[in-house]
Formats: sequence, C-alpha cells, structure tokens
Amino acid sequence: MKQNEALDFIVIGAGIAGLSAAAELAEHAKVLVLEREQHPGYHATGRSAAYFAPAYGNETVRALSAACEGFFTTPPNTFTNVPLMRPRQVIFVGRHDQRDAISALAAEVEQLRLIDGAEVCSRVPILNQDYVACGLLGKSGGDLDVDALLQGYRRQLKARGGILLTATKVEAMEFEQGRWSVKTTKGSFSAPSVVNAAGAWADQVAALAGADPLNIQPKRRTAMLVDLSAEFEFADWPLVVDVDEQFYLKPNAGQLLLSPADETPSEPCDAQADEFDIAVAIDRISRATSLEVSHIKHRWAGLRSFAPDHTFVVGQDSRREGFFWLAGQGGYGVQSAPALAQLTSHLLTQSTLGGDFKDIAAYKQAVSPERFSKD
Ligand SMILES: Cc1cc2nc3c(=O)[nH]c(=O)nc-3n(C[C@H](O)[C@H](O)[C@H](O)COP(=O)(O)OP(=O)(O)OC[C@H]3O[C@@H](n4cnc5c(N)ncnc54)[C@H](O)[C@@H]3O)c2cc1C
Repeated sequence: MKQNEALDFIVIGAGIAGLSAAAELAEHAKVLVLEREQHPGYHATGRSAAYFAPAYGNETVRALSAACEGFFTTPPNTFTNVPLMRPRQVIFVGRHDQRDAISALAAEVEQLRLIDGAEVCSRVPILNQDYVACGLLGKSGGDLDVDALLQGYRRQLKARGGILLTATKVEAMEFEQGRWSVKTTKGSFSAPSVVNAAGAWADQVAALAGADPLNIQPKRRTAMLVDLSAEFEFADWPLVVDVDEQFYLKPNAGQLLLSPADETPSEPCDAQADEFDIAVAIDRISRATSLEVSHIKHRWAGLRSFAPDHTFVVGQDSRREGFFWLAGQGGYGVQSAPALAQLTSHLLTQSTLGGDFKDIAAYKQAVSPERFSKD
C-alpha cells in the first residue's frame, strides 16, 4: 500500500491487540496503524507475564483464549521461526481457609484436577507444607513468546501491504462525509472506519471521537524477577497462583517471576513499580514459601485494562458510525489476541472464520460494546 492510497481502516494502538487485528484486516483491506510510542508493545503488551492460561477469566474469556491454543502451538507458515509457546502447567493453590474458593474454581473449570498439599509441595518444593492445603492442577498452559508474537503480526501486516507508523500520537478525530479524519503528531489520515485498540487509553480515544466512554479501567500490576538458590531445578515448575489471586510465581528464563497480583486503579500512564506493591509481594510470597528475597534483579509494572464486567469489548460503537472498539483485554490480552483479531476482521470485513476460530462468532454479543448501552 502506498501512503497516499485511500485507507479502509485506521487502527489506533500497536500493542498486541492493535497489531494482530491490523494484520488480519490487512488481508482484506488497506490498513494503517498509528502508535504514539517509538516501538510497538511498549505498554501492557511488553510488560506481561507472558502466560497462556485457558483456565483463567470468565467463560467468554476462557473460550476465546482456548481457541488460540492451536495458533500458539502451530502458527501459520512464515509467521515465525521460533516456538510461540512452551508448555508449562499451572497450579492454583489454597490454604485451609481457602478450600471454598478451590471448590468453587474446580466446579467452574472442568479441566482442573484437585491435588493435595503434599503433591503441590512436591511439584514446587519452595512452597511451605503448613501453608498449602490443596491445589488445582491445570495441564494446558504455557509460556508465550510475546515478542515473537508481536513481531510475527508486524511482519504479516507489512507483507499484506499494511503500514505501521510509530511515534505518531492521535490527537483529534472528526467524522465528516462518511470518513474519519484522524489528526496526529505526524499529520492527518482519513478512513471510513477506526479501530480503537488504545489499551489503557481506550476511553480517552473514544472521547476524541465523541463516543461515550465504556469505563475501561486501567489497573496497575507489578512483577519482579529474583534469583533462586542453585539447589532447585525449577525451570519446569508450574505457574503457581494463589486461588484468590493474591500472588503468583513462575520460572522465567533462569529466574523466578513474582507478582503480588495487584490491581490498583490507575490513570492511563507509563506505569512504574511501586515500593509498596513490591513489599506486599515479598510478604505474601515469604509466607507461602521458603524463599528469602534479598535482591530484586528487575521490577516493572503495567496496566491491565478492564471493562466493568471483565469481558473483552470487541465491536462497533452503537452511536458513533465507523468507530470500532477492541479494548478491555484485562489480564488476558496476549493469550486471546489471535482470536480477537480474527473476530475483529470478521465483524469489519465479513472474513470467514475457520479452523480453531470457526465458532468464536458465538461470542460476538458477549463482547459487543452494545451490552453497555443504556437504551
Ligand atoms: C504485569 C502484567 C502481567 C500480565 N500477564 C499476562 C499474561 O500472562 N497473559 C496475558 O494474556 N496477558 C497478560 N497481561 C495483560 C496483557 O499484557 C494485556 O491484556 C495486553 O497487552 C493488552 O494489549 P493492548 O494492545 O490492548 O494494550 P497495549 O499493549 O497497552 O497497547 C495499547 C497501545 O495504544 C497506544 N496508544 C494509546 N493512545 C494512543 C493515541 N492517542 N495515539 C496512538 N497510540 C495510542 C499505546 O501507546 C499502546 O502502545 C499482563 C499485564 C501485565 C501488566
């Protein structure tokens, strides 16, 4: 596509949501992606724990994530030459006083198997036997290579004639004569349809378009990497998640990734790790394990942005013509990206949904922004 060629879609945001949707749209249409940062994936996408957990989230989130498993294990030809996912199991752990939460999760997610505290601790020997009463083991799950996924979509977008402009912030939008005029720090662009994939900024971008906000709430989450004593062979340990999501830990390239699983409401911003959240993580993890954290190798935070019902928002705004939402990815935006990108393309270009994605249109009402319409 030449830069002065008429565009069909302008996608705002080059996180995993925007880039994956743009790559799928580019198979059928002329697409431009606008990203205000120097590099795609700078915000939430580049700060995730990079885990594929099809047992995580509500029913709609789980179904759309599960549909992506085949893409991660067997990506399309030429998408990437490195594995997108390496298997890693998950254990949701509970203390005695969390047995009800364990039972509730077991009833909700069939594929999780109840194991006793001794088995949990034999699988993850740093867990304290007097802390863990039981656990739920999930066999499907894995570590995602988020950068390979993002770069795969970036290459696919380019190969299909789409354009990505970085360091290009959308500052104003106007709808005139059936087209959006999108004003940016690098000039104006126009297309009949705009996709709002602005992550934590989704409501702000909607305001630029004169659309009602959907109350997409960014919530800060903190993570850190620490060393673990050489006595442990921990590379294949499962991801360990407190059943009430009060902390999680998992091996990460020779170190251990720890998180207090914080969900602190935040304005959209370049989130930074807060000392208090680091202290909370260390406190919770030292009660559950024998780990003594003396040095943190690396710490970071990112914003997970949720719709009020914690379900994705994918669909046309009911009041603003040509304004399409792809937002509210919460804590599942990487693991669900291939499905949400396919659904976006299907809804905007009527592209056919096939293979593992053939049934995902069944969720289009559940994810539609119309569910928040007041009338
Ligand atoms: C600590 C942490 C752990 C996580 N772990 C996981 C996990 O294990 N698995 C999982 O699936 N998910 C996980 N997530 C969630 C996942 O990272 C997000 O759901 C996902 O990255 C959201 O992608 P996005 O493209 O919507 O948002 P983003 O990656 O934030 O992208 C939005 C982009 O829009 C751009 N933008 C905003 N406004 C404008 C504008 N006006 N003009 C131009 N560009 C604009 C921003 O610069 C940004 O690059 C985690 C998140 C965090 C923070």
